Amino acid sequence: MRDEVKRKFVYDFEEGDAAMTNLLGGKGANLAQMVRNGLRVPPGFIITTQACLSYLQEGEKLLEDIWPSIREALSRLEVKTGKKWGKGPFPLLVSVRSGAPVSMPGMMDTILNLGLNSETLPLLSHASQNERFAFDSYRRFIQMYAEVVKGLASASFEEILAEVKAREKIQFDYEISTDGMRSVVSAFLAIYEAKVGEPFPQDPWEQLRQAIAAVFRSWNSSRAITYRELNSIPHTLGTAVNVVSMVFGNLGEQCGTGVCFTRNPSNGCPDLYGEFLINAQGEDVVAGVRTPLPISELRYVMPDMHEELLGVAHSLENYYKDMQDVEFTIENRRLYILQTREGKRSAAAAVKIAHDMVREQIINRQEALKRVTPRDAELLLHKQVPSDVHVSLLAEGLPASPGAGKGIITFTPDEAVRLTSEGQKVVLVRPETSPDDIHGLAVAEAVVTSRGGMTSHAAVVARGMGKPCVTGCESLSINIEQGILQKGDIVLSAGDFITVDGSYGRVLLGDVPLVDAQITAEFSEMLQWADNVASLQVWANADTPLDAKRAREFGAKGIGLCRTEHMFMSQERLPIMERMIVAESKEKRLSDLELLKAMQKEDFRAIFTEMDGYPVIIRLLDPPLHEFLPKEGDIKKRILELPTDMEEKERLFREEELIDMLKKIESLKEVNPMMGFRGCRVGIIYPEIYEMQIRAILEAAIEAQKNGVTVIPEIMIPLVGISGEMEFFRHTVDRIAQEYYKSTGASIDYKVGSMIEVPRAILITEKIALYADFFSFGTNDLTQAVFAYSRDDAESKFLGAYLEKELLTENPFHILDREGVGEMMHFCVDKARKTRQNISLGICGEHGGNPESIAFCHALGLDYVSCSPFRIPVARLAAAQAALGFTN
Ligand code: ADP
Ligand code: MG
Ligand code: MG
Repeated sequence: MRDEVKRKFVYDFEEGDAAMTNLLGGKGANLAQMVRNGLRVPPGFIITTQACLSYLQEGEKLLEDIWPSIREALSRLEVKTGKKWGKGPFPLLVSVRSGAPVSMPGMMDTILNLGLNSETLPLLSHASQNERFAFDSYRRFIQMYAEVVKGLASASFEEILAEVKAREKIQFDYEISTDGMRSVVSAFLAIYEAKVGEPFPQDPWEQLRQAIAAVFRSWNSSRAITYRELNSIPHTLGTAVNVVSMVFGNLGEQCGTGVCFTRNPSNGCPDLYGEFLINAQGEDVVAGVRTPLPISELRYVMPDMHEELLGVAHSLENYYKDMQDVEFTIENRRLYILQTREGKRSAAAAVKIAHDMVREQIINRQEALKRVTPRDAELLLHKQVPSDVHVSLLAEGLPASPGAGKGIITFTPDEAVRLTSEGQKVVLVRPETSPDDIHGLAVAEAVVTSRGGMTSHAAVVARGMGKPCVTGCESLSINIEQGILQKGDIVLSAGDFITVDGSYGRVLLGDVPLVDAQITAEFSEMLQWADNVASLQVWANADTPLDAKRAREFGAKGIGLCRTEHMFMSQERLPIMERMIVAESKEKRLSDLELLKAMQKEDFRAIFTEMDGYPVIIRLLDPPLHEFLPKEGDIKKRILELPTDMEEKERLFREEELIDMLKKIESLKEVNPMMGFRGCRVGIIYPEIYEMQIRAILEAAIEAQKNGVTVIPEIMIPLVGISGEMEFFRHTVDRIAQEYYKSTGASIDYKVGSMIEVPRAILITEKIALYADFFSFGTNDLTQAVFAYSRDDAESKFLGAYLEKELLTENPFHILDREGVGEMMHFCVDKARKTRQNISLGICGEHGGNPESIAFCHALGLDYVSCSPFRIPVARLAAAQAALGFTN
């Protein structure tokens, strides 16, 4: 006997639990757990993922082997339900549902009402006292079986339904009469036979066997394989099959079906949230055909059921300790739960729910911090329609996915892709969306559908992608062929501009100005929890007092990089800078530097004041000098444009000045400016420039301190590659500080450190660390130098191809290259700490705002990461998650 035969491939719900996801699939394991927890679940059994994997190897043989267990499980179902398989008085029908260990699209769609045939049909009709229901169930089964098992297209079935509805002069499937349904069934059977080349299978065992095999095979459908590859899901998991006795939501007015989130997945409020339909089966709710009622209405339609559902929601949340997405069916005022799983939610809801669950003592703070992804944090900084601007409402629908977006109307996904590739911003507008529209959804700024509810395809996908979406705008009539959108006498065409407010379910006319989002009190409290568990601090890259203010608002614990070059770029300062650079004598240069110093000092004072009590790292001048000079062409133009009515002498003088500048530009020209005369090299050749900046910093610090501000200035020398450079500036700063101490009697705590961005500096870490109080990894330049890539050239010429060929797995300018750049950092950190135990270490490249890179910095044991102010919430969360050993 083979080993597998002895293995157990079939489990009754009673035998499983939530921990058995790998064997029973997510859906099966949760159904089993709900049975254990005493919830009312229709009886059923699960065929394991192992059976699937064996079937994919052995084929039909496996089915033969497990068939006896399936027969036994089915007869237990007969006992539990009191119904009979293929017989009366009440025939047992089942659903066959796929369920992999991870939730995965591309798997087989569920088949409902399996077990119906020409014999059981009249029995069902009799037992239910509802002939129309029996025919309705049968036609659904035939169509689902044909599509799912035999791969027939839905079109011919839809045509028949359309014909019958036209004949009966009605709009919806659920309005079709009993006679109509009867004719639909015979037409469906005929189509099936014509297209498949054999009659519709009448033997329920045969139906079951085919359906199970189809689920197994769907594991290897090309859609499923692609999805697994895109999401790094192992191909070796397999899918389980759930065989569940049917309960009927379409038996009449005392029945219904619905989906319900235990909390609001859009804003996180702790109310039941979802929708239901009276007298409907299975997918009717999510299909977007009939617009369902909100779950809150259930309270009025069937108060007892609403009450019971609340209890179920409560018990599920207490067990799973998370918000659940629940499917239910009401059969003659009896509530059955058909599925539960963790509910997908918007970023805002993720924060609110995690925060509330801590307050409700369902989870602790650390757990809450894991529930919000860095991506959520990023989405929360989404745009909104400001409440105080005047808007013209085009239509109202359901707030299916929050945030606001705007663009020109586009009716087809292909067109959306084409227009966005031309740089346009588009809003995708459709009656409803399907998986075939994904590429359009992906590029759109926002999505609007006239049909469907909060759980329609468009809604679910948009929430996942973090795009604004409004569904169920029933007052809009959309004509895709003509490319128009109509509401009363307003007619809009493709190309017209609209704004979509997904947070409030509004579609607005025209281009409404949007505002950046605010951080809610709950989110900011969670970020404080994050700071408490993180060992990395989050600092900001901020160049101006305004940036500094924003950085503090977002919770930065310091400024990791204040670049001074922008301070020279304003209209009034640039000419002085130009003059300073071209000055032919040091005296002239010094007088201009004096002017610049006064200006920089003011900037620094304002920044220190904003950052009262927090360190501010100021980097001395970094870019090549020529960046401050005008282009050659501009100067030639300036010469030509010298006023003619000017005195001759004056004119000659001005002309000479400009010619000097031309010469200077000529002399500053470099073959490779990135590796040329820049950074501290400029400070070595023109010490007076750096000296001016050092003086501005120290004077500003002393003055701010006098005004009661706690200043912690840190002076950073860029592009250090040899220890002599660092030594020189260390002494310069110390000397100037001593002078000030003497002349003012003041003293301040300052630090001098080095940016680490030249590979050589890393190799001689120990020597540089002798003179440096801190190191800050400038990972943008460091990555360029370590790879010998110039970023712009790499990104525009070959990096894309490298990624495609998988020579690189990530763009190293986005995600820190651990293997190369990271290894160098590691070396540097080790040596630096050996030389100077309390040296402060941080990172100020763009990587400082990237969650994966932050996790690496945590592992390296850095003291802080510094990133752009807008990424601070993301970084704070990522730093906490790294400390909790959690990666998303
Ligand atoms: P999906 O994974 O696409 O949600 P499901 O297996 O959950 O597929 O089923 C699709 C629909 O059919 C759901 O609305 C579900 O509640 C319903 N359904 C599944 N099994 C049964 C059953 N035994 N009785 C009644 N409705 C069912
Ligand atoms: Mg489901
Ligand atoms: Mg640099």
